[in-house]
Amino acid sequence: MMVSSTCHEGGCYCGAIRYRIDRVPEFSAHCHCRSCQMALGGAFATWAKVPAKEFSVTKGQIKQCEKTPGVRRGFCGDCGTTLTYAADTEVEGQNWSQDAWFAAVTLDDPSIVAPQNHVFVSHKQPWITLPADAPAFEEF
Ligand SMILES: [Zn+2]
Ligand SMILES: [Zn+2]
Repeated sequence: MMVSSTCHEGGCYCGAIRYRIDRVPEFSAHCHCRSCQMALGGAFATWAKVPAKEFSVTKGQIKQCEKTPGVRRGFCGDCGTTLTYAADTEVEGQNWSQDAWFAAVTLDDPSIVAPQNHVFVSHKQPWITLPADAPAFEEF
């Protein structure tokens, strides 16, 4: 296995699932949509992405929840930590199947991502106040 400074690991709360990414994520964002709130049990989710071929599960097996057909939320079946998000459909010209989206805070060192954008702020809880200069989008 090649180990470099661009290689990072992460995993779920209980440690049953571990994964590795082979580069620092090029994009990350906070999602305030209702589905993320429910799936994570939190006010919003912070997602990051790497090319799908640069994300690998190194321990355990991620369970999938497909409440919306074509949208799969991956989580640890033991502790419930939300780990991944995948969608079959093309959204606004983006082919989501090329990317591996994962919950940025599950990295061992979440500080390597630098999320700025807030998306789906139309679903944002009223008691979450964003900085006035934060890039915010009604939807994606
Ligand atoms: Zn777990
Ligand atoms: Zn969301």
